[in-house]
Amino acid sequence: MKQHIYADNAATTQLDPDAFEAMKPWLLEEYGNASQPYAFARGPKKALAEARATIADCIGAEPEEIFFTSCGSESDNWVIKGSAFADAEHRATITTAFEHHAILHSCAAIERMGYPVAYLYPTADGQITGETLSRVITDSTRLVSVMYANNELGSIQPIRELCEIAHSHGALFHTDAVQAVGHIPINVHELGVDMLSSSAHKFNGPKGIGFLYIRKGVRIPTYIDGGSQEFGLRAGTENVASIVGMAAALKKNCDAIEKNAVYVRSLEEMLLDLLNSSGIEYKRNGGSNTLPGLMSLSFPGKDGEAILHRMDLAGISISTGSACDSVNTEISHVLRAIGLEERYAKGTVRISLGKNNTEKDVQAISAMLVRVTGR
Ligand code: PLP
Repeated sequence: MKQHIYADNAATTQLDPDAFEAMKPWLLEEYGNASQPYAFARGPKKALAEARATIADCIGAEPEEIFFTSCGSESDNWVIKGSAFADAEHRATITTAFEHHAILHSCAAIERMGYPVAYLYPTADGQITGETLSRVITDSTRLVSVMYANNELGSIQPIRELCEIAHSHGALFHTDAVQAVGHIPINVHELGVDMLSSSAHKFNGPKGIGFLYIRKGVRIPTYIDGGSQEFGLRAGTENVASIVGMAAALKKNCDAIEKNAVYVRSLEEMLLDLLNSSGIEYKRNGGSNTLPGLMSLSFPGKDGEAILHRMDLAGISISTGSACDSVNTEISHVLRAIGLEERYAKGTVRISLGKNNTEKDVQAISAMLVRVTGR
């Protein structure tokens, strides 16, 4: 069989086999509706409660602060639209110009309805500084939403500092932590955030399930009307199997979070060392504080799309930007936001390694990258 090397873990990850095993009984045997009052629903109900507690424990939250959603995009939409629609005064939202489209398009939607939004620009290294936020925030800002780590650059943001600034002006703080949860330690109470979005398929859980952390005491309106699931805030029969799989995957990743991070970082360093010693010209974007294994690499004068396709022909999956942008051949909004020079921006690819990658994968990726960018 032709080789296949998966190096696009920021787009999605392989389902962990233990998470898959944990899901099976809830699909095939204990398929009862967790909201029903009879005995057959007791198992699913208990499984939901346990999954909620496990997830809460992984991020330092209380179980009642975890709300299951269908994905990271839903969590983001809920925060941006829900909190705006509940605000009769139409106070401002502040976000950043390099958020995921789940945030940016939600912000565009509320703007069209007359809710003001301000966009902060990152530094060339992909950082939103406290100074940048302080320049724009006022006492009539309602919500500040800054992603934990950028999905194209991997750059990690100073969330605790930004959150303190938001609170000092009476604003709520949300972070889209879809890329970070399960990969670097996150404790919501230490950070002080009011809301945090997450998605299972980014940390070896199943696709189509996520959660939103909402700090106790923060009032956000119901997002999906219907039954009383998710404490009456998000209706819909619970996806028990996927929720159980999400909890199992997150617990497994969090139990080994330092070990995995060290391992993935070592693969990242190996790849960069190999590229450096090959002598090809390239630049890494995103500064020095990045998620383990996520690399935005620019090859000046080259074409990122062409690199991606030639790597693909060799059986190696990488990305040019965020997965949702893969049909768009224009320079991504993230690279524009950091002001990357056009000849670098056009030749940019994203390589994202994960816990399932090996040194052999890295050698093959490097050899092929050198080949396709060398001429
Ligand atoms: N936010 C960020 C930062 C992401 O990287 C992604 C997915 O790429 C999302 C949100 C959307 O998550 P989901 O695919 O679960 O809707």
